[in-house]
Amino acid sequence: MLCPTCGHLLQKLLVTTNSGGKFEVDHCGRCGGTWFDPYEINRIPYHEVIRIAHLTVLPKSPPAEMKNNLCPRCQSKLEKYHSEIMPKGVNLLRCPKDKGIWATQKALEEFKKNQEETIKEYKVRKIAFPSLSVVFAPAIFIFLLFLSTLITVTNLDKAKESRISAAAIMDQLQIVSISPTAVSITFKTKTSVKSSISYGVSSLELITRSISHQPTTNHQILITNLKPDTVYLYRIILEDQTGRKYTTEIRPLGTEAEFIDKSM
Ligand SMILES: [Zn+2]
Ligand SMILES: [Zn+2]
Repeated sequence: MLCPTCGHLLQKLLVTTNSGGKFEVDHCGRCGGTWFDPYEINRIPYHEVIRIAHLTVLPKSPPAEMKNNLCPRCQSKLEKYHSEIMPKGVNLLRCPKDKGIWATQKALEEFKKNQEETIKEYKVRKIAFPSLSVVFAPAIFIFLLFLSTLITVTNLDKAKESRISAAAIMDQLQIVSISPTAVSITFKTKTSVKSSISYGVSSLELITRSISHQPTTNHQILITNLKPDTVYLYRIILEDQTGRKYTTEIRPLGTEAEFIDKSM
């Protein structure tokens, strides 16, 4: 795989999460950029970012930067990614196809530093659900990075009509990590509907919980007893007043590593 920034061959580096998990990133030893497959950028601790940065060996006379910004996996053109809840001036690049993230060394350091400080600050203040989603916007980014749109209507064919409807009805989905084992999910709907959520570690083991028993436009649920540092799958089911059901596509949702609790 080639570096999207400078064209150098990327090398595999082993990264250790704070809960002891290990995974590989693809790192450019020339410009210091790092490629993350989906979710990996949330798992890498800040101190590992710093360690990797020290492994970067800059050549004495760096070649002119190529900046073709192509995905090292599938060669799609990477798209600039910035959210208002990221630090100012920090941009990441994301592959529109496989959702991997390319981060320059500087952007990665600033992003992870900000992320860890924000999470820590939240833990100190112990903000209670459900005010959380309002007060603690920065944590939302962790998940919204991969869930920026619940569903892309244009990607769907007509057979998925009920999914298109679910996406059209839903608005302002916010998924906030409260702890490594708890996630808050809030969203609005344009009309009053009942809602429920199915989630699990695989699509074959989904459990369903009711979110709104009565038709409403404001929906919120706190899901607890999740496993830390784990990718869950979920989908949201809406039921209108005539009893017709609409479901979203199945989407991934990651929990945080446990280190955040230990730091307290
Ligand atoms: Zn490079
Ligand atoms: Zn790609």
